[in-house]
Amino acid sequence: MTAQHDHLIGGRWLAGDGYAPNRNPSNLADVVGEYAQGKTPQVDEAVAAARAAFPAWSVSNIQARFDALDKIGNEILARKEELGELLAREEGKTRPEAIGEATRAGYIFKFFAGECLRLAGETLASVRPGIGVEVTREPVGVVGLITPWNFPIAIPAWKIAPALAYANCVVMKPADLVPGCAWALADIIQRSGIPSGVFNLVMGRGSVIGEALIQHKGVDAISFTGSVETGGRIAQACAASLKKVQLEMGGKNPQVVLDDADLKTAVELSVQSAFFSTGQRCTASSRLIVTAGIYPAYVEAMKQRMAGLKVDDALKAGTDIGPVSSQAQLEQDLKYVEIGKAEGATLAAGGERLKRGTDGFYLAPTLFTESTPAMRINREEIFGPVASVIRVKDYEEALAVANDTPFGLSSGIATTSLKHATHFKRHALAGLVMVNLPTAGVDYHVPFGGRKGSSYGPREQGHYAQEFFTTVKTAYTLA
Ligand code: NAD
Repeated sequence: MTAQHDHLIGGRWLAGDGYAPNRNPSNLADVVGEYAQGKTPQVDEAVAAARAAFPAWSVSNIQARFDALDKIGNEILARKEELGELLAREEGKTRPEAIGEATRAGYIFKFFAGECLRLAGETLASVRPGIGVEVTREPVGVVGLITPWNFPIAIPAWKIAPALAYANCVVMKPADLVPGCAWALADIIQRSGIPSGVFNLVMGRGSVIGEALIQHKGVDAISFTGSVETGGRIAQACAASLKKVQLEMGGKNPQVVLDDADLKTAVELSVQSAFFSTGQRCTASSRLIVTAGIYPAYVEAMKQRMAGLKVDDALKAGTDIGPVSSQAQLEQDLKYVEIGKAEGATLAAGGERLKRGTDGFYLAPTLFTESTPAMRINREEIFGPVASVIRVKDYEEALAVANDTPFGLSSGIATTSLKHATHFKRHALAGLVMVNLPTAGVDYHVPFGGRKGSSYGPREQGHYAQEFFTTVKTAYTLA
């Protein structure tokens, strides 16, 4: 019988309102587990448990918080292979990519263990004689964390770790497609010594659990990662109830390749950004903006490199690209392949569903050439292994095209020109800029986030996470 996994509420594992199976996208016959489905009463219970735990946790000893977060990080790192396998099985990243993500989650907890000790304030003189001024940071309260399916352990980790480090209580709602990693993380957190009610996990549908969280009067703040559509709805709900809100959303990230680029480097980083992790990264590049002099050689080299990519079961040794995560995402990818063809772009590689040894959502990495910036395939987030090449005259046009998007998460350039690299770093309208590196692939100790339609509110990760997960107090004392 498939194992059933319950919600974690107030330190107890509680049965759901039924259970939903979680299927392996590499092999639909493989059920990863059954996960509890929640409804509004479970959210009410979890928020009540978090509120009850908050007074003590909000003033808890920093050594206790350090120890708990460090312990969580150590267990994740010790079990990274097993957690990576679970991740690859439920989401479809290749095993090495999935182990890499689990490793990152472990280090995030260890980084934020240190942050418990580093939280500092300021002491200033008053403009009035005899008065002292202190500026300190305090936790925000009960935070609701809502996460997407594409990074099932790293994104929960980079929200949960700072929330706990800065002494907030948490109600976590993972994406319904991938509850397995979030549940495994909750199990590790539950055994870390953190008091009951400080961390709660409620699984189920976004329209039910997510909606109940964003509407709940007992929730002080919402940190969300997901699509622009859902993010916009959450921003409105949070504005109406005056909740603090942080949104990380979609991207349509450009990768510029200039005539002076090293061709091999440019092709390698384009393939990695556009197609690895099945193109299902918010930082993936889907617009490859290439100057005319290198365009023919670049397109040829891309086609050759793509022909060698192995698409197969995420757990198989040697697989470069795993399956698309779900039927709905596969349909969306294939729909955009048709849109690209109808818009007049040239389908240079891929574009078709693949058959493998097991029934899974396999899609050949897809490259359009001769595409133009106005095409829908260059304006809308597809979120799959589908990229298009745009030919431009020179650096100036490349920069203009790169910035001509409603999104602004990550922006990359391949060039050997210091002048152009320096100019691009300053003028790319994005939160992340990459020079001779893929647009995807970031460190865990520095801020992460974007501009325009990609992000809203304070940055996530690194030291900057405290902007969202703390609130500032200014205290005046008459000496
Ligand atoms: P999604 O918006 O469909 O879902 C995200 C989460 O919101 C899920 O947990 C979902 O259940 C929940 N949700 C859905 N409806 C809700 C509602 N009405 N109220 C509250 N919560 C609700 O996104 P997805 O398909 O899971 O993820 C893919 C998207 O995430 C892509 O657009 C991708 O670019 C984006 N993403 C962004 C980043 C980033 O850091 N910028 C990182 C990863 C993914």
